This record gives sequence, structure tokens and C-alpha cells, in this order.
Amino acid sequence: MNKNDFQKYPLIWRKDDFFIKIYASIPNIATGILITTDRATFIVDPGDGILRDLNKDVGAVTILKVSDIFISHGHHDHVGGVWSLLTYLSVMGKKSQLNIFYPKGCKEIESIYSAFIKVYKRELSYKINLKPIDGAKIIRRSSVSIKPFKVNHREHADDGKITSPVPSLGFKFIYDGKSICYGGDTAYCTSLVKNAAGSDLAIIEAGAENEAGTELHMTLSQAAEIGKTAGEYFLVHVPE
Ligand SMILES: [Zn+2]
Ligand SMILES: [Zn+2]
Repeated sequence: MNKNDFQKYPLIWRKDDFFIKIYASIPNIATGILITTDRATFIVDPGDGILRDLNKDVGAVTILKVSDIFISHGHHDHVGGVWSLLTYLSVMGKKSQLNIFYPKGCKEIESIYSAFIKVYKRELSYKINLKPIDGAKIIRRSSVSIKPFKVNHREHADDGKITSPVPSLGFKFIYDGKSICYGGDTAYCTSLVKNAAGSDLAIIEAGAENEAGTELHMTLSQAAEIGKTAGEYFLVHVPE
């Protein structure tokens, strides 16, 4: 497999009004995903550039409809665009509430939120609800059921050799009898194997630099093995 075959962003998938667009998914740089139905507008992993991409692609009217943000984990390539997105929504006068779902213990989101509120609380035009996820309880939003599941992602500790676990989730979005499974960042793990199987679309990371890097990410062949159990699949987060 040529890794460049997997990096023609944006990646788009649609079944009737169930739509997903992956603007980017590049490890250590940025992720950015939009999911919509006739009634729902969600953002998944707003990395750096998400506001620019959304503004160019769908414009302010759609951005203002964003009701829920889903965060797989707190690494900067998945949350780097949160601050500017939250600010833009207030500048544009958003009135409806915004939920941010994230894995419990994700200190990055809680830190961004508390700094953001400190700076903007007087002028903020809308309410933000932080929704830490602990467990696999189904979330229902705008006729979409969202099933979170724990995955196995790690990061290098201070000395650069040992790795430690990061609170990390994948999400399965189920709507109108169809499902999209997004695994976030993860090593090969049974929860992703189970949730990807039989999905209409699986979005699977293949972020390992090489066979030795599989404690943090998956290789292309590991990711493809999981992807093939779904109706269709995208391999994402391939190192450039
Ligand atoms: Zn990542
Ligand atoms: Zn990560």
C-alpha cells in the first residue's frame, strides 16, 4: 500500500442526509471533521484550521448551527482549533447552547474551557456545557445516537521512552439505520474491532511510523484489517 493513497483530503461520505467530511487528519498537525444530517450539525476533533475550513466550505450559517463537539482525546492535533471556534461562535452571536463531549480526565479540554471562560465570560453570547464521558452510555442528540467507546492511546512521558495512557474515546454515530465508526487515535484494540465491524463507514487511524510504533498507533495493515470489517472505510492519520 502506498501511504499517499490515503491522504487526499477532504474525505467525504454520504448516505441520504447522513454526511461526514474529514477536512484533515494528519498526526501531530491537525484533525477536523464535520458530521451533519438534515437536523444535526456536529464537529468531531476540531484541530487547528477547523474554523478556516468550515468558513470556506459551509459558512457562518452552518457553523452557528453546531450544537455538539465530540473530542476523542486531548492531543493538540485534535483540540487545537477549539479556542478559535468557541470565540467565533460568540463573535457571531450564537444563542443556542453548545455541548462539548470528551473523555473524562482530559485535562486539555478542561484547561482550554476554564481559560476561555476567564477571558470571555462577560461577553459570551451562548452557554457551553462540558460533558465528560466515563463509560459507554449512549448519547442522543438531534435524532443521532452516539455510542462512545474507550480505545487504547498513549503518549510519551517526560523521558521520552516510557509511554503512559491518555483518556481516549472512539465514537459510533448511528442515524437512520446507518452508522459511522470513528476510532480516534488508538493502538490495535478490541473495542475498536467490535465497534467498527458492520459499520457502514469506519474511520480508522494508521498513525504508526513503523512496526515499532504500534504502542501508540496502528500500522496501515492493522488499520486496514479493521476497516475491511465495515461496509466502507477510510484510513486516516497516516504520517506525512
Ligand atoms: Zn492524533
Ligand atoms: Zn493522539
